[in-house]
Amino acid sequence: MTHIAFIGLGNMGGPMAANLVKAGYTVNGFDLSATALQQFAAAGGRPADSVQQAVDGAEVVVSMLPAGQHVESLYLGESGLFARLPAGTLVIDCSTIAAHTARGVAEAAAAAGLRFLDAPVSGGTAGAAAGTLTFMIGGDAANVEAARPLLASMGKNLFHAGAAGAGQTAKVCNNMLLGILMAGTAEALALGVQNGLDPAVLSQIMGNSSGSNWVLERYNPWPGVMDSAPASRGYSGGFMSELMLKDLRLASETAGQSQAANPMGSQAQQLFEAHVAAGNGKLDFSSIVQQFPQR
Ligand code: NAD
Repeated sequence: MTHIAFIGLGNMGGPMAANLVKAGYTVNGFDLSATALQQFAAAGGRPADSVQQAVDGAEVVVSMLPAGQHVESLYLGESGLFARLPAGTLVIDCSTIAAHTARGVAEAAAAAGLRFLDAPVSGGTAGAAAGTLTFMIGGDAANVEAARPLLASMGKNLFHAGAAGAGQTAKVCNNMLLGILMAGTAEALALGVQNGLDPAVLSQIMGNSSGSNWVLERYNPWPGVMDSAPASRGYSGGFMSELMLKDLRLASETAGQSQAANPMGSQAQQLFEAHVAAGNGKLDFSSIVQQFPQR
């Protein structure tokens, strides 16, 4: 069975790696956080002391890191992994990063004789735990086919978006929309509550009306409305506000580079800029509801 190295065992990478273990793969994992390594070991993974130890003997490397600079520093440069991995190794980066950064990493991988895919995901930590993520993949079709069985252990929808970087472009579009939906849903709930409505009742009404959306169905931002949502556990875990801000900045950057317009995305970005600047970067992004007056 394929031997996999998994780098980055955080909110998403931890449960994703655990699903690979469950599917029967041998998974060596590495993270800078001792807690993440302990949780990975408890899930049956093999924790490594270093990136190098994790990739020893691996046929596939999967990474799930916060942002582009982490991905570049893992793979590129004299001390990067691309200088050390055996030719033909399949490298799958699932982090959400800029499409141009992913294309640069893909070029460096090709120059080193490696096979590379950008494969960011959607579905949140619940989707990561349930193995129901959506993968948006950029790269060569043959490499996508090689990765398919492994990705299917972590997700149920696998989309080949196009050439290198295309997965990241799709992800940035999706997350810009998610940021807008979360900010808009929070705004609507706060408006109702300020005017005397019960947030649970209003959520039910809008969830069965034309305002229905993924946030209302799965990720309600109002505390106590949805037991399974981060809002009901103090906005811990989930998808950090600083990561959503990173994605909204990526959307603005992408719009600027392609002469596209993102007026709604930049409004959402401004809200998240203020929210993160106020010290809420580590809270789940649904905590944006705190930017609106509440009774
Ligand atoms: P996270 O901060 O929980 O996890 C990232 C992990 O990477 C941390 O445990 C950190 O210690 C580790 N790390 C950082 N640098 C490292 C290095 N050099 N070597 C080894 N480990 C290193 O973040 P997350 O929520 O898991 O998100 C990861 C990526 O997935 C981000 O790009 C994010 O935008 C994207 N994403 C997150 C969600 C979500 O709901 N949380 C959903 C879809 C996509």
